[in-house]
Amino acid sequence: MATHLVWLRNDLRLNDNSALWAACRRREDRVIALFIATPEQWRRHNMSPRQADYIWRSLQLLQQGLAEKGIALHYHQCDDFNAAVSYLQQFCRERQVKALFYNYQYEFNERERDAAVERLLPQQGVTVQGFDDGVLLPPGSVRTGNQKMYKVFTPFSRACLKRLRDDLPPCLPAPEARADATADEPSTLTPFDYPRHSIDEQLFSPGEAAALRRLREFCRQQVVDYPARRDYPAYESTSRLSVCLAVGTLSPRQCLHRLLREQPHALEAGPGSVWLNELIWRDFYRHLLVAFPALCKNQPFMAWTKQLAWQQRPEQFNAWCEGKTGFPIVDAAMRQMNATGWMHNRLRMITASFLVKDLQIDWRRGERYFMSVLIDGDLAANNGGWQWAASTGTDAVPYFRIFNPTTQGERFDKQGEFIRRWLPELAAVPDSAIHDPHGWAKKNHQRLDYPQPIVEHKAARQQTLAIFEAARKASPVISPEQVNEQF
Ligand code: FAD
Repeated sequence: MATHLVWLRNDLRLNDNSALWAACRRREDRVIALFIATPEQWRRHNMSPRQADYIWRSLQLLQQGLAEKGIALHYHQCDDFNAAVSYLQQFCRERQVKALFYNYQYEFNERERDAAVERLLPQQGVTVQGFDDGVLLPPGSVRTGNQKMYKVFTPFSRACLKRLRDDLPPCLPAPEARADATADEPSTLTPFDYPRHSIDEQLFSPGEAAALRRLREFCRQQVVDYPARRDYPAYESTSRLSVCLAVGTLSPRQCLHRLLREQPHALEAGPGSVWLNELIWRDFYRHLLVAFPALCKNQPFMAWTKQLAWQQRPEQFNAWCEGKTGFPIVDAAMRQMNATGWMHNRLRMITASFLVKDLQIDWRRGERYFMSVLIDGDLAANNGGWQWAASTGTDAVPYFRIFNPTTQGERFDKQGEFIRRWLPELAAVPDSAIHDPHGWAKKNHQRLDYPQPIVEHKAARQQTLAIFEAARKASPVISPEQVNEQF
């Protein structure tokens, strides 16, 4: 009987967990699991306290679920990834682990950590097996005719869909209970040494069972109306599964299989296909991280955008963070995120664009702020989203297409239903004036306890265009591959 260890990271589930499944393949082996919290590393990665709380609560549920399968979940807390690797070596030695199983993570530091594990553990007689699990298709497996990573989403998406149609990746069940229920006592899960911010369990129920319930409900009903309703933040029309996918209480393959069960034509542009496309965006950004690791190191995808002359503007940055810019749709969005840890996708685009294109503040400051607040903070999607909005990324919005925050508000929250939820100080303003409350107040001799716009959009737009033009002229043409080499 050999001892197999499953090292759980952002795959906190029993179902469709490739590493767990592989560790449990032979009934006679003893299987144990380990989670190592690394609060110092999380601080460096700006992980939000809400995400840490979601992880902690989900871990507790997972520990119960694993115990029912006869698998003890051990737990350790140390500073960072280096300390985690040392602890892992010690743990394997003490427990005479013969084989280690884990699912890959694709960020740079995580990959370096895993490379160290794959070098060190075999030296002490432990075989190491990693699995591509947090993606629909493994990074590197979807390539152009020239065997390169796609830099444009649409052909990438087309290639993914073809792959999925030809050979649907399986969705694994939870492993059966172990024959030899382990004698190991699971560890006590002490709270992380990390700032506390309790999650709203109504909005984000922790654990795998809640994630699966939400997925089922969404795929049965809401996914059909998703194309028509997804851009309107006043509706509850998107899945809100992002935290589950970021932390791994749910896998993207589970999403795909459930979607196909409820909407069998989703792979052929039938109902559900628009939502599936979002899951493919998620894969796209992960595949890019692996092909272009410079993205994990604060580098823009388009080298010429390194020359952009960003502004500091500390007061305006704070106003943006606090939702006090004087632009109702921007402020309502930022307050939604600050209050709940989640923001609607359309609003992420609008607020990111506002920071970069109206305030001319470096997108990386916004990226960090989002990470520090979002419950679903995820380097690949967050970096991809910010670089899209800042026009520095692959397949990004062209730099000369600049969102007007007022008309975006008028288009996607016409009556101000969403705005009113988050800006009570605009309660007296009629629907028709909700996107220009000060104009209304002036005309009607009213006083509003709401900030004046901190910037004049038209003028800011012209300045931004000039900044981008200057950077473009000043830069030699460097390809993303060269950025990768320089880094
Ligand atoms: P749904 O619309 O139901 O989509 C289903 C799933 O697809 C999501 O849960 C998510 O995993 C994935 N997805 C959807 N849209 C995108 C997208 N544009 N890019 C990548 N994956 C996507 N998403 C994160 O998960 N974490 C982040 O930190 C994050 N930061 C972002 C920052 C900016 C500036 C922008 C523009 C987008 C960001 N996104 C991020 C993508 C997107 O906004 C969220 O995934 C989505 O709003 C989550 O809500 P949902 O689960 O209801 O999504």
